[in-house]
Amino acid sequence: MYYGSLEAGGTKMICAVCEENGKIIEQVSIPTLSPEETIPKIIDYFKDKDIVALGVACFGPIDLHKDSKTYGYITSTPKLKWQNYPLIPTLQKALSIPMGFDTDVNGSLLGEISFGSSKGLENAIYITIGTGIGGGVISNGKLLHGMLHPELGHMLLVPHPKDSFAGNCPFHKNCFEGMASGPALEKRYGKKGIELVNQKEVWEIEAYYIGQALCNLILTLSPERIILGGGVMHQEQLFPLIRKEVATQLNDYLKTKELADLDHYIVPASLNDNQGILGCLQLAIDAKKESSLNLR
Ligand code: ADP
Ligand code: ZN
Repeated sequence: MYYGSLEAGGTKMICAVCEENGKIIEQVSIPTLSPEETIPKIIDYFKDKDIVALGVACFGPIDLHKDSKTYGYITSTPKLKWQNYPLIPTLQKALSIPMGFDTDVNGSLLGEISFGSSKGLENAIYITIGTGIGGGVISNGKLLHGMLHPELGHMLLVPHPKDSFAGNCPFHKNCFEGMASGPALEKRYGKKGIELVNQKEVWEIEAYYIGQALCNLILTLSPERIILGGGVMHQEQLFPLIRKEVATQLNDYLKTKELADLDHYIVPASLNDNQGILGCLQLAIDAKKESSLNLR
């Protein structure tokens, strides 16, 4: 039995066919242009693949409320051509199979807890630090949606005493994304992250912001583990610096077995950049199960 995965990103749409055990049989990448150009290619790809369900993890904001008239829509995205686009309704009409839908970051988190090194955890957070910053949350075994879905990349942060950069988020300036995303690094230093590898202070300041955001999340959501992915986190020297910041900033306020072992508490993504695709697989598996239950 085959399942379809669609990781819908702002620059590319990764489509894949997978087996229930997490094996990716094949995958293609389709550039994200306008819906009129891109969606027919996605439908064409999946149409003759004999998949029993499709899981879609998508850039946001998106409507995840199943009883909403605009369920499955991409809503107020800054990507103008995709604003108010009925993604799931359109795919559903063309493919007529059960579909699961969630944010891109909840998708990556689901991949990690279903198939990765965080398998089985019921309280965890996945954060991507790349062009933007976003995070997925699972709490008591349920992916957190709430009013809309968490947008934890936009929490406000206190500037580092040695940092005069004002932040580049168009909405909040010095939020997490405004201070610590790839483009924030590039704007602050006039060079891309990859070209700053040997500049110690760059990564100390970066770790200060990531550490601060992680402390806020630890204190508000009580995760059992935090997984960090995205382009900027390819700088592996960040991990020990972030762990140190978290320890310093929490200042022994919390004492748990998880926090006593920060090397296993703050960890890199574990699925070779396939966490999103495998999360979509799990969304598809869950959607198939739910539809079978409904048919009984
Ligand atoms: P996206 O967020 O667009 O899906 P990525 O997660 O790859 O894609 O993030 C891209 C951002 O990460 C860019 O700003 C880029 O400069 C930065 N980046 C990518 N690779 C590295 C690296 N090895 N070191 C530091 N920064 C990187
Ligand atoms: Zn912001």
